[in-house]
Amino acid sequence: MSYELGTLMHQRDRKRAAYLFRTKSLGKNSIQENEELLGSFEPDWSKFENVFMEELLPKDISKQGQKRTSQFILEVVDILIDYIRKSNDRSTKVLDFHHPHSLKEALGHCLNLDEDPRDLEQILSDCKETLKYCVKTGHPRFFNQLSTGLDMIAMTGEWLTATANTNMFTYEIAPVFTLMEEIVLTKMREIIGWQEGKGDGIFAPGGAIANLYAVLAARYRICPEVKEEGMRVSPRLIMFTSEHSHFSIKRNAAILGIGTNNCIAIKTDAQGKMIPEDLEKQIEIAKASGGVPFFVSATGGTTVLGTFDPINEICDVAFKHGLWMHVDCAWGGGALLSKQYKKLLNGIERADSVTWNPHKLMGATLQCSGILLKEKGILENCNSLRANYLFQQDKHYDISYDTGDKAIQCGRHNDVFKLWLMWRAKGDIGFESQIDRLMDLSIYLQGQLREREGFEFVIEEPEFLNVSFWYVPKNMRHMPKDSQRDVLLDKVAPKIKAMMMERGTTMVGYQPLGDLPNFFRMVISNPATIPGDIDFLIDEIERLGEEL
Ligand SMILES: *Cc1c(COP(=O)(O)O)cnc(C)c1O
Repeated sequence: MSYELGTLMHQRDRKRAAYLFRTKSLGKNSIQENEELLGSFEPDWSKFENVFMEELLPKDISKQGQKRTSQFILEVVDILIDYIRKSNDRSTKVLDFHHPHSLKEALGHCLNLDEDPRDLEQILSDCKETLKYCVKTGHPRFFNQLSTGLDMIAMTGEWLTATANTNMFTYEIAPVFTLMEEIVLTKMREIIGWQEGKGDGIFAPGGAIANLYAVLAARYRICPEVKEEGMRVSPRLIMFTSEHSHFSIKRNAAILGIGTNNCIAIKTDAQGKMIPEDLEKQIEIAKASGGVPFFVSATGGTTVLGTFDPINEICDVAFKHGLWMHVDCAWGGGALLSKQYKKLLNGIERADSVTWNPHKLMGATLQCSGILLKEKGILENCNSLRANYLFQQDKHYDISYDTGDKAIQCGRHNDVFKLWLMWRAKGDIGFESQIDRLMDLSIYLQGQLREREGFEFVIEEPEFLNVSFWYVPKNMRHMPKDSQRDVLLDKVAPKIKAMMMERGTTMVGYQPLGDLPNFFRMVISNPATIPGDIDFLIDEIERLGEEL
């Protein structure tokens, strides 16, 4: 049924729907009785026209209600499978782009929420229509973000998660998932290289929040009184991170009342790596000005350039001055699973805390992000309030499994099941080969860009999956590399990207950095991508670039 028909639903059907809702919600009548009351209405149960959600489980528990429910779910699954099939079909567009005003027009009344219920045929059509305008982030030519791809096991794991629909705050209501969280976090800590059986951690809603946990724990270690007394009892705390670090570090300084001016940006070298000597210098300056340095965050795979800070050298400086050492490898953490590439994170085992997003490099569906700590107990001490309606201290089981009081949330989504299921399906070696393959593709892309004319690298030797480059159109190639050329170059990537989005064939990000004009930030993290897709992207940039 189309939207038009949906809105023109026969008056009698509307009345019937409203009737079903009202009587059923009072629990007065069975479906049969309703049918009698409504007279000769003969719906076709193989279709969902004129069928309302009140006629599914849990309202209608009859055989018929059960059958309808399973038919309805299978219809939804069909819609999803169709989307997945299209996402993997290179002849399908990555997106069907509309400007906000025209999308509003296209969907128009379809988005309205009204007093009367819609039938399930409409609901199915709503699902289809929604997916039609979604960006196919699992498409092999979607390169726009650090989290791309659609892993079948992770996705079905998320379906199970939705069906189990529980909250992670206590063992009481999430017994299996709590144990899985312990297993997975322990495994991640072992991979980091911390002593077996030690340490702590929790899944957080994204790397930005995982980083917040790290700063919070670090502040608790230096100044635990803040928990009760607030920042007025704190000295002027100073934290450090590189100028290329993720913006969440600085924002966390704002959130925690430390202040963004007390989050010092450390200089980076030509590759974008934090310069340890500048860190040392900045620590001295902070101390001399009466501040108390307490935290440094090194980045393992910067968001833009994919650079790895020298963790060992930064640890040396941090520990000399008694700072908490955090490694934000939200993006690069997965590299630890590769024997060949874990060296990028050499020294990580010396850190006090680590942010690691399985929803990026490892390809877990959104969202899945861990904060891992070397010391056990600090999260609990820092965050727990022992709300006595949830975390009763006299429960009949081992309450150390009530992990929720370590969190800064109350309810917590189950982010672990899909990751656990992926790990079962891939094993360590599956993740390793996935990551090694992505690295091969990155090397392939770099080779192609070197061979072709008009491409210039932002950093000469990218060490990871981010390959940042400029495309210089033919008519600009004779120009000297000066600020005049930069002004023109700055406009190239946004224009090509806009044309790309209108055509819908592929998607790649662009951005400026410091004084550098806009460049393409190509990220390879999509397991669906093959070398031909990389060729396609470069060809597309060349083709569109010449249209400028
Ligand atoms: C992506 C990223 C984050 C933020 O993670 P979210 O899950 O998007 O909150 C933090 N740090 C780095 C280095 C990142 O790349």
